[in-house]
Amino acid sequence: MNQFERNLEKYADLAIRTGVNIQENQELLIMAPIETAPFVRKVAKKAYEAGAKNVHVDWSDEDLTLTKFLLAPDEALKEFPLWKAKGYVEMAEGGCAVLSISASNPDLLKNIDPEKIALSNKARAIALEDFRAYMQNNKISWSIVSIPTAAWATKVFPTTTEEVAVEKLWDAIFSVTRVHEEDPIKAWEQHLTNLNTKLDYLNGKKYMKLHFKAPGTDLTVELPKGHIWLGADANNEKGASFIANIPTEEVFTLPAKYGVDGILASKKPLNYNGTIIDNFSLTFEKGKVVDFTAETGYETLKNMLNTDEGARYLGEVALVPHDSPISNSNILFYNTLFDENASCHFAFGSAYPVCLEGGENLSKEDLEKQGCNTSLIHVDFMVGCAEMAIDGIQADGSIEPIFRNGNWVF
Ligand code: ZN
Ligand code: ZN
Repeated sequence: MNQFERNLEKYADLAIRTGVNIQENQELLIMAPIETAPFVRKVAKKAYEAGAKNVHVDWSDEDLTLTKFLLAPDEALKEFPLWKAKGYVEMAEGGCAVLSISASNPDLLKNIDPEKIALSNKARAIALEDFRAYMQNNKISWSIVSIPTAAWATKVFPTTTEEVAVEKLWDAIFSVTRVHEEDPIKAWEQHLTNLNTKLDYLNGKKYMKLHFKAPGTDLTVELPKGHIWLGADANNEKGASFIANIPTEEVFTLPAKYGVDGILASKKPLNYNGTIIDNFSLTFEKGKVVDFTAETGYETLKNMLNTDEGARYLGEVALVPHDSPISNSNILFYNTLFDENASCHFAFGSAYPVCLEGGENLSKEDLEKQGCNTSLIHVDFMVGCAEMAIDGIQADGSIEPIFRNGNWVF
C-alpha cells in the first residue's frame, strides 16, 4: 500500500469512526456525487466493518443537474421528488446516520439564470425541511467530509494540470483534516479538547453582546438569554457522539434574531449551490439585512435573501482563529466546509435550536419568541480576517477582549 492509499484508509476510517461514529446495527445513508464512487465504496466497507447494518447511497450527478437546468421546463425546477424526501425522513426516524460527501463544482451553474436556481433551491429546501430538522436538532448523527473532483480541484488550483490539481487538493484535505498525523482519530480527540476549553470559557461568560470590528465591518450582535456555545462534537438523541463537519475549527452559537446592528463585510467568496457570491457587504438594523451590495453574484444574493422572512436574519455566529490549519494553508477552497473553518463566520437563515437551552424541544413559534431565527435556509458566509477584533460585552456594560488581530486572546 503506498502513502496515498494509507491516507485514504485513514480518512475513510475517520469519517466512519469519528465523523458519524457508526454504531452496531445502525443504518448509514451516504449522499455523494457519482465521481466520488471509489471513495464511497471504501467508506461503505469501513461502515460494515464497524457494525453498520445497511449502507444506502444516494448519488448525485452534476452533469445531469446542469442538463436539467438547461433543458427542463421551469415547472420541473419547482418540484423536488417527495418520495425521496419521505424516504430520507423514514431513514432518519429509524435512527440512521447520514454522511455527506461535499465536492461540488463551484462554477457549475455560472451561466444559469439565478431565478431558475432560486426556484430549484427553494423547492429543495421546502421538501427537505423535516429531514433537515433531524440534523439541526442533533436527533441523528451526521457528518460532512470532502474529496476532490476534477472540476472542483481545477477551480482551486487553476494554473496546473487536472491531475496535479486533484493531487494537490487531496494533499490539502489530508492536511487540514489531520489525516497526515500518525493517528488521526487521536489527533481529533486532542483537537476536541482544545476546542472545549474555548467553549467552557465562553459558556462561563454568558456575554450579552459581541462587537465585531474589521475593515468594512462594525457590528454588534446580541446573544439571547440561554444561548449555548457549541463546537466540534455533539451527541445524538441516543447519546452517541458525532462530528458534523470534518474539518471543523469553529465554536458557534446563535445571535438574537432582532439584536444585530451595523455593517458586515464578507472576506471570502461564497459558493452557494454552484454560484459564487463575492465581496459583499450587509447592513443590519434590528437583526434584518436592510441593505446589501455584492461585486459578484448580486442577483444570487438577492434571491437567497428573499427565500423567506428568516433569510434576511442571522442564525449563527461562529468564531475561528485566523491562525488555524485551513487559514494557514492559504488555499481558497470555494467550498464552505473548508472556507468557513478558516474564518469567523455568520449564517443567513435558521439557527440551530440546540444552541438554546432546551431549544431542541421548542416549537417554531416558541423558538422565534426566544430570539431563535427560523428559515428554509442556513448559509454560512465568511467575515474573519487577520485584522478582526471581537469584544464581549457583559450585562453590566463591561467590555472584554475575545479576539485581537484575528486570534483568540485567551
Ligand atoms: Zn459554522
Ligand atoms: Zn453554519
